[in-house]
Amino acid sequence: MSYTIEGETGPWELVIGLEVHAQVSSEAKLFSGAATEFGAPPNSQVSFVDAGMPGMLPVINRECVAQAVRTGLGLKAKINPWSRFDRKNYFYADLPTGYQISQFAFPIVGEGKLTIELSDGTTKEIGITRLHLEQDAGKSLHDQDPSRTFVDLNRAGVALMEIVSEPDLRSPEEAGAYVTKLRQILRYLGTCDGNMEEGSLRADVNVSVRKAGEGFRTRCEVKNVNSIRFVMQAVEAEARRQIEVWESGGTVEQETRLFDTGRGVTRSMRSKEDAHDYRYFPDPDLPPLVLEPAWIEELKSGLSELPDDRRARYVGEYGLTAYDAHVLTLEKETAAYYEEVARGRDAKQAANWVMGDLFAALNRTRTDITTSPVSAKNLGALLDLMADNTLSGKLAKEVFEAMVETGRSPGEIVEERGLRQVTDTGAIEAVVDEVLAKNADKVAEFRSGKEKLFGFFVGQTMRAMQGKGNPALVNEVIKAKLAG
Ligand code: ADP
Ligand code: MG
Repeated sequence: MSYTIEGETGPWELVIGLEVHAQVSSEAKLFSGAATEFGAPPNSQVSFVDAGMPGMLPVINRECVAQAVRTGLGLKAKINPWSRFDRKNYFYADLPTGYQISQFAFPIVGEGKLTIELSDGTTKEIGITRLHLEQDAGKSLHDQDPSRTFVDLNRAGVALMEIVSEPDLRSPEEAGAYVTKLRQILRYLGTCDGNMEEGSLRADVNVSVRKAGEGFRTRCEVKNVNSIRFVMQAVEAEARRQIEVWESGGTVEQETRLFDTGRGVTRSMRSKEDAHDYRYFPDPDLPPLVLEPAWIEELKSGLSELPDDRRARYVGEYGLTAYDAHVLTLEKETAAYYEEVARGRDAKQAANWVMGDLFAALNRTRTDITTSPVSAKNLGALLDLMADNTLSGKLAKEVFEAMVETGRSPGEIVEERGLRQVTDTGAIEAVVDEVLAKNADKVAEFRSGKEKLFGFFVGQTMRAMQGKGNPALVNEVIKAKLAG
């Protein structure tokens, strides 16, 4: 069933296409050697090229180009061996050159695709139109002084990948799932850190509405949305606004809008400019960008495993459920942690510990997988202590809690606290004999048919052994003694 919004005239369908700006992970900017580190003091990472000084020449950063190619490969897209940089001219205080170097007619990456996962368990393939490289602008600071605006050029010239989707998305959920998946792929590839709070990933959200069976109507673009939740909210708010316009007899005009996150509505920013308003022309300072096929192949063979492939491998190789495989591969770091625990061990048990006890502990201690108090190595060692019967499941939980508290290895904790489980049958028999002798009345009741009492004997024995009896052996011994 497709998603619709109910208006006065009946249901409306949504059509959404996203343009995502992803900051390329690289040490230096797209055309200069200036650093790109987030949070540096204003204007401390600006070269003469970034500041638009006359006579400065841009020089392409090979690593930024490699990152764009890797991303294209990750999106199963066509890599264009010949592409070109154009100047996109406009005036703004945080753009000292008066133009942005971008790619217009000949982007580095062409058509690709991306599969989104939806909450009902279905998937959908979304077309990627293109990916091109461009420079970021600087940042105007309006809140530093009551009467003046300052400009920080640290971001000016930083490499961005603009990734444009086809208008294939049909609901707020699909739009959210698209950004989620794209972000996951970028993070797996290491081509963008995906940090939306720091502005490394921002989305322009194009929305239109229509009646079933119609072609596309005019769209509006909601600029610079900086969280997945806001993308979903902006889609819905903008669709509702357009429905009202159409239903009150008006016409939706193509324009650029902003999402007011406080009020949950979009408002007009400017009427949409067309490509010709930017007076695009090939940048005379830069030759066309030509990629050697051998270099593309080299990048392809060095590409990180993609999330979909990794998930499929967890199901096939480790025998995990689709759900467990999904959860464990959401973050590359979690997947790496899990694999270290699972290697050479019971993969399903490893998954249960990571998704159960470990995730709960991370939550409780406000840490994440990269700062976990329990290392993958130590969690693996804990599983080994269960496998060789040093620890029962119950003791293992106790040891695990101590590992969370102290960050130490399970071996050290077992030694220190004497938590080794008792697997010596003779020792267990001695305790069981004592328990049965002390509870002769209950033994008689058990033998006359009150079988529920079995658990009582187990409990008493375990208590006498401070929880250290091997549960299987304890059960076995009690059964034998009661039968005898
Ligand atoms: P422009 O270059 O003018 O921004 P594009 O054709 O490149 O326009 O489209 C920009 C984005 O708008 C793309 O993500 C595309 O999928 C989306 N889009 C195009 N037409 C529509 C529409 N009618 N409704 C919703 N989104 C649309
Ligand atoms: Mg556009």
